[in-house]
Order: sequence, then structure tokens, then C-alpha cells
Amino acid sequence: MDQTNWPLIYNGRNRLNRKRVTKFPCDGCFMHLDRCICSFFPNLHLKTKVSLVIHAAELKHTTNTGRLAIKSLTNSEMRVRGFERIRLDLSDLLSPKYRTFLFYPSDDALELNEDLVSQSDLPIQLIVPDGSWRQAFKVHSRHPELKDIPRVKISTPNTATHFIRNETNEYGMATLQAIALALGIIEGQEVKEKLMKLYQAKLEQTLMSRGKKITHL
Ligand SMILES: [Zn+2]
Repeated sequence: MDQTNWPLIYNGRNRLNRKRVTKFPCDGCFMHLDRCICSFFPNLHLKTKVSLVIHAAELKHTTNTGRLAIKSLTNSEMRVRGFERIRLDLSDLLSPKYRTFLFYPSDDALELNEDLVSQSDLPIQLIVPDGSWRQAFKVHSRHPELKDIPRVKISTPNTATHFIRNETNEYGMATLQAIALALGIIEGQEVKEKLMKLYQAKLEQTLMSRGKKITHL
């Protein structure tokens, strides 16, 4: 993805990996009410299904972006791991209605590209582990029901100079960005751009809430 035209530059020390919790968040976007970005949510009805697998602790962080994607996509769902040490069983996600892939860059992961997408008429389900790379690795390695699901990756380098948090996922980008790129490949540019607009709003409001200086290119 070409990110050279991103409109924001963050000047200052990048110390964005602290745990952040907003006391009175907006019910829609989980940002502080003064920084609500709900007007940026697209309402996308796609053939592709996105299933987000997220750790319960991750949901408390205002820096989480995966659930913003879920709110933007009518054909999506969220499964929460880490409740009371009970292992989450994801086997019911594996519907024959979909070609299911786990979005994880293991050594044997296939490149998610147009060629792969065109190999079947079945719609795609993308199971997306949300959170840090460690949490994503647990979804990849600790769910036997996902053992035979092909892994997919995207090789687009992330050249962004500013982030919502330092510890990002295995792609070095926020989950919402990674989903935007993947859906751009599967569903087209328009979908990607709408989700990236939401991501930009989230990034801008998050950095501004920290008093960071942002300049537009
Ligand atoms: Zn809101």
C-alpha cells in the first residue's frame, strides 16, 4: 500500500504503548465523547466475512482498532478470548459457506492477492486475531480447530511514521489497517479507502487527545 500520501505527520517522541483506558467513552466508537469519530463509520455490506478473535483484556484499551472494523462491517463477528481461563472454541466459525483463512503470517502462509481470491467462487471468511503479535500467535497456535485452516498474509510494507500504539500486530500496523488492506485486495479499493478514512480519524483523534502536534502534508 502506498502510504506516502498519508495526511498526518506526528512530531514528537513516540511513546504510545502505554495502556490507555477512557473513563467515559462514547458507546459507538469508544473514544472520549469530545473525540467521537462515529460519523466516520462506513456501513459496509460485503460478501467477505471478517471474524475478529480478540482477548478480553484488549477490549479495555482505547487504542484497540479491531472492533472499529467490526462495527463497520455488517458481515462480521467478534469472538472474545480469555474469559475465566475457558478455552474459546472457534469450530462453529468454520462454515462450508465460506473459504476460511486465518490472517496470520506463519512460514507457510499464502500471499493474499487477487490470484488467491480468484481461485474459488465461494466468499472468503477472514479470521483475524486482534491485539499484540503474542496474542495473535496464541490464536494461531492454540486452537486445534484452526489447525487445518490455511494462513494468509499480506506483504505490503508498512512505512507509516506514526502509530496509535508502539506494539502493533505482526504486520506492524493497527488491526483496522490490516483489515482495510486485506479487504482492499478481496473487495476492492473503495472498501479499503473507507476503512482507512476511519483509521485516520481514529489516529488523528488519539494523537490529539495526547496533545501531540499533528501537521498536515
Ligand atoms: Zn463515537
